[in-house]
Amino acid sequence: MADRQVVIIGSGPAGLTAALYAARANLKPLLIEGLEAGGQLTLTTMVENWPGYRDGIMGPDLMVEMRAQAERFGTEFIEGNVASVDLRRRPFTTVVSGRDPITSDALIIATGASARWLEIGVDRKLSGHGVSTCATCDGYFYRGRPIAVVGGGDSAMEEAIYLTKFASKVTVIHRRDSLRASKIMQDKAFANPKIEFIWDSEVADIKDLAKGEVTGVVTRNLKTGQLRDVPLDGVFIAIGHTPNTALFAGQLELDASGYVVTRHGTRTSVPGVFAAGDVQDHVYRQAITAAGSGCMAAIDAERFLEGMAEHAESVGAPRAVEPVAVNPSAPL
Ligand code: NAP
Repeated sequence: MADRQVVIIGSGPAGLTAALYAARANLKPLLIEGLEAGGQLTLTTMVENWPGYRDGIMGPDLMVEMRAQAERFGTEFIEGNVASVDLRRRPFTTVVSGRDPITSDALIIATGASARWLEIGVDRKLSGHGVSTCATCDGYFYRGRPIAVVGGGDSAMEEAIYLTKFASKVTVIHRRDSLRASKIMQDKAFANPKIEFIWDSEVADIKDLAKGEVTGVVTRNLKTGQLRDVPLDGVFIAIGHTPNTALFAGQLELDASGYVVTRHGTRTSVPGVFAAGDVQDHVYRQAITAAGSGCMAAIDAERFLEGMAEHAESVGAPRAVEPVAVNPSAPL
């Protein structure tokens, strides 16, 4: 018999909403919070598009509320990182570093996505020494100092605007000549006198590794090849995210970008395993859509467990998992 009916991995809006619904369905869920507890919203500032808050709510505050709500209905939490999962057999096994393995009849994956780096070597080496992927965490250190934000999406604009509260000047470095960000964010960024843009350019180098701190960047114009030295004190990288699916590679169907493939709601290629939020969504990627899919995953898991109980009543012992044959062209 499994230790748990449902284990949920991940504590962003998807995981916590799945926990809330699973708890209210009496499934006594166990939620493993992961290293980035609370998910991406804990790294953001004001969230203005979460329905119900007409003046917005701070991302970290929203996550505190969501966690408390899931806990109120009986969700149990484990702090820790999942080291491995075994999805070949039901009950599924989840191993959290330093703890006994946990078995469950259903698993909800809500591991989200993590910030991307430029991967020019020096960016990771100077992480915490002038290079950051979190404006909310590190913006405060740049009071009165010039900085850069890399990227042209909503995250980059949001960070650039936020950072103007502290920085003397924010230079947005973007690889194209137009932004990917939504119109409203573009308008806000263009209207901000502290924000300047370097278009069609990538970051070729960040100075100065020898000093162990950021003193500037070298940009390369992708149309002309021209290099340009830009003196500044900090670099914020906001170029999107990579889904956290390394744990599931080889066990679940993933798409070419590494996202978990879901069909018919939140069902993955393994019956009893469901995925919700940014780990399976490269299209919408909003907190509210993540929460919505977390709700769906809990309902899908509940129905799966009901089916399992009915099957056990009729034939007895649990079965080994047979992955469903997936037709990639089947309608969602
Ligand atoms: P995104 O929309 O994927 O934008 C990533 C940006 O980084 C793009 O401009 C991209 O350039 C650039 N980029 C990617 N790889 C790069 C590289 N190696 N070097 C240089 N530049 C690179 O990601 P996001 O801004 O994190 O947004 C993700 C989702 O969250 C979106 O759906 C967004 O709408 C949403 N979001 C919403 C809000 C809000 O509504 N307030 C705030 C934040 C995020 P290209 O444009 O050339 O591809």
